[in-house]
Amino acid sequence: MITVTDSLLPTPLGGTLINRVRPLHDASELRGLPTLELTDRAYADLELIATGAYSPLTGFLGEADYLAVIHTLRLDNGTPWSVPITLPIPREDARTYRGRVVLTRSGAPVGLLDVTEQYDARKALEAREVYRTEDAAHPGVAALYAAGDVNLAGDVTLFDVPRGAFPHHHRTPAEVRATIEARGWRSSVAFQTRNPIHRAHEYLQKVALELVDGLLLHPLVGTTKGDDVPADVRVRAYEVLLEKYYPHTRTLLSVYPAAMRYAGPREAILHALSRRNYGVTHFIVGRDHAGVGSYYGTYDAQEIFSAYTREELGVQILKFEHTFYCRTCGQLVSPRTCPHDAAHHLVLSGTKVREKLRAGEHLPAEFTRPEVAEVLRDAYLAAGD
Ligand code: ADP
Repeated sequence: MITVTDSLLPTPLGGTLINRVRPLHDASELRGLPTLELTDRAYADLELIATGAYSPLTGFLGEADYLAVIHTLRLDNGTPWSVPITLPIPREDARTYRGRVVLTRSGAPVGLLDVTEQYDARKALEAREVYRTEDAAHPGVAALYAAGDVNLAGDVTLFDVPRGAFPHHHRTPAEVRATIEARGWRSSVAFQTRNPIHRAHEYLQKVALELVDGLLLHPLVGTTKGDDVPADVRVRAYEVLLEKYYPHTRTLLSVYPAAMRYAGPREAILHALSRRNYGVTHFIVGRDHAGVGSYYGTYDAQEIFSAYTREELGVQILKFEHTFYCRTCGQLVSPRTCPHDAAHHLVLSGTKVREKLRAGEHLPAEFTRPEVAEVLRDAYLAAGD
């Protein structure tokens, strides 16, 4: 029997939504402890662990979990997991960090790490298995190589959820879950993106909205590579688009604080599992999800999910083929729905789009809605000043 307290939301991975946020009541508890300044990525990971977005993780991975994730796509206890969440430090600092460590940002304490283990990062192995390449030109591999050689492991505490640059759109997994419940969505789909919403994205989202009650538009706003559109510009574009073209009661714009790793298939799994923790029942994976350059096959990020059963994943993957505008059909289509060849299709690469914007040119309305194109053009023109 369903009672009012029964939730229709999926259980978090591992069964419990992790919460390791607690205020710092007394600064004297930090006295004498070593301090570790976090990078943007590590701070984002700290938040994602502490707020439960990375449930069942309670801290940065120890060696057994690290190797299990790399080799088996699972934590050591068999739970699905795809990308090692680690805290690398330079080898020469390793002796400093034993026991309790104060995590800082710009020197100010933001949390704690209770170090239980230190171990060598297997960078070449991690690059090969997680990123499928050892090429340092890959931005995720470059970040891996640039980081320290020793990983610190242990449980974390976060003193306060950083609401960042987008406080109105910043919600923890518990807050997103509460919103979904309050709106009465019995099913919902999350859309991960690091780009402005072009017409193809909108098409995927709206096809999905035909099937489920609500859309969690969940753009990643952590560190991205230099030529991706900056998060503040994208958020402005999401706001104008949602205002005008989306059903307000069935859409929730909320930011996802993670850094982009560009790990393609492996990152698609991480994106899906963490969105399950945010409480959605479905997750969209289109073409070359979280990919970069030509490191991954167009549908590798869809195929990799066959490593798990549907029960293990706990979130249903909505897979979409490459979507584009067909001039002859006069609508957004995919190879599944359009009989015409490439000459009829409007396809613009990210590079081409950036070239057009830098040149102050308009993007075709079939590719990007004019309101979004204008936000992008203004931002590019301002950046060129
Ligand atoms: P990400 O790099 O995080 O995948 P994108 O913004 O490039 O971010 O893509 C967001 C989602 O939309 C991903 O699931 C991606 O596969 C999908 N996607 C983007 N463009 C298309 C397209 N033209 N056709 C089908 N799927 C697409």
